[in-house]
Amino acid sequence: MKKLQQLLQNIDGKGYKAYKSIQGSYSFHRYEVCVDYVQGDPFASPSKIRIVIPDVYRPIKDEWKQSKQRNIYVADHIARSVAKAIKKESNQPKGSGKSGLIHIDQPGQEILERTAVQIKKDKTIICLSVGLPANGRRINGKEAEKLFFTILPSILKNSIFSIKDDELTKSVQLADQHTVIREKMKENNWIAFVADGAILPRESGVSNRPLRKAVPFESPQENRVEIKLPHREEALTGMAIRKGISLIVGGGYHGKSTLLQALERGVYHHIRGDGREYVLTDPDAVKIRAEDGRQVTSVNISAFINDLPHGQTTTKFTTENASGSTSQATNVVEAIEAGATTLLIDEDTSATNFMIRDARMQALVHQNKEPITPFVDKIKQLRDDLDVSTILVMGGSGDYFDVADQVIMMDQYKPFNVTEKAREIVEHQPVSRQPVTDKLASDMNQRIFLPPSLNLQKGKKKKVQAKGLYTVLMGTSTIQLDDVEQLVDASQTRAIAELLRYMEAKGSLEQGKPLTALLDDIEHVMDQEGLQAFAPFPNQHPGDLARPRRFEIAACLNRMRTAKVQ
Ligand code: ADP
Ligand code: MG
Repeated sequence: MKKLQQLLQNIDGKGYKAYKSIQGSYSFHRYEVCVDYVQGDPFASPSKIRIVIPDVYRPIKDEWKQSKQRNIYVADHIARSVAKAIKKESNQPKGSGKSGLIHIDQPGQEILERTAVQIKKDKTIICLSVGLPANGRRINGKEAEKLFFTILPSILKNSIFSIKDDELTKSVQLADQHTVIREKMKENNWIAFVADGAILPRESGVSNRPLRKAVPFESPQENRVEIKLPHREEALTGMAIRKGISLIVGGGYHGKSTLLQALERGVYHHIRGDGREYVLTDPDAVKIRAEDGRQVTSVNISAFINDLPHGQTTTKFTTENASGSTSQATNVVEAIEAGATTLLIDEDTSATNFMIRDARMQALVHQNKEPITPFVDKIKQLRDDLDVSTILVMGGSGDYFDVADQVIMMDQYKPFNVTEKAREIVEHQPVSRQPVTDKLASDMNQRIFLPPSLNLQKGKKKKVQAKGLYTVLMGTSTIQLDDVEQLVDASQTRAIAELLRYMEAKGSLEQGKPLTALLDDIEHVMDQEGLQAFAPFPNQHPGDLARPRRFEIAACLNRMRTAKVQ
């Protein structure tokens, strides 16, 4: 402890570079501070430090570590408490650039596996970023001393050292409840569960917090199920959606898209108080939308699209600028390639000509002049041949009544099961569609990404970096993920960027594995070694990473403009 204080006094007033001398670890009373990385100047991205707290000073019960799920929830809880404690300190710059700023990768509404706090066998590690203080470009040793010897201790005292075991236990209980709901869903072939009382709408388009004064969810009787949960007396009731084809209909502004968005997010778990903490969806559900302008590399979309003008092939469809329908077809095929078992589709973000073609249009434009086989003609094959379910919002066309296993109508934000009514309508007003009979092959798309796809070269350096939630910069190219709606946290994007670097360094693409096998390997590493496995320096601050799903990793690979596949 002496040593750090001494060092800071020695370098006070010197040029910023002298901060490099404090790299290393220092023991404090109840923890160790590891200065892993020192920024080059006060304006550069901040320095990385880790706080290592042995269990003797902050006991973490064995039972909290006994499952990965529990471990993630405890770490998440601690990360939130540290973030809160940081906010409590005045977190204003104290000098030039980022001087004195302290940051932890703060979780949003979701509980994700992340590196910010790591619970190990006998210790807890908290990863922080700090701006080492300076005046201009001269070291401000006094402020630095304050940071390490007053502010940090106070933050830790107000967070990890003061969290009550009861609070952590509550998080662990939520972890257990989520585990049980997922088990029940699997057992019963439910692809979605929305609890009664859930609050689905969000505060605004840019806020993920619950809308106040929202109408709570109330399950339709036909879909109502009961789940007995641990740590809770009353059974949880709510709406279960079975595997198969589910249609969500209803008037405009009655809450259809809100329900679907909650289901999209239900692949993740949410914190208590979010309103969606008991809204869960098949973890392998993928939102499918139109995405004009996206890159497509050699995807077999021939199940949906054939005979494009100018004879463009659709068994290996490649374009730098996909249309609405070709991009949506691509998104379906790629999702299935990556292992999706449920597709989530909203009419609001779909290409109409991909979704439907009514009898009148069929009469006018002859089948052999129309390259698109609409999704309505394929949705049953997805279910029957590939065991892929669909939940679809469609308020504007009744064409899907024929193929739906169930129809849910949203009315004033409340769902009603109108399956019988829809059946009657089908009987009384039949539509004459030409049924499609060819089978869908499960291996319709099995691509192998080739090593040159990962081109990290930028001038003399290799570079890959996430910029916010939706952009990855790789070498000289930019990968745009704006329409990848289930990417929810910028730390997931950072993890994907690190993953690209890792795959390049490890030569992961050199083994000629199909994409699915590649994704299996990556998930295996994440399961076994954690996200730290992808960090550039082992056993140091891993950067702020959160775990992405395989589908969002695939989404990034699929949108690389440098992709070369076989
Ligand atoms: P639709 O897709 O049926 O046109 P939306 O889902 O877009 O309707 O919802 C329309 C509006 O209603 C949105 O502003 C949304 O936030 C709000 N909303 C949705 N569900 C609820 C609810 N349960 N309580 C209150 N407002 C809601
Ligand atoms: Mg809508």
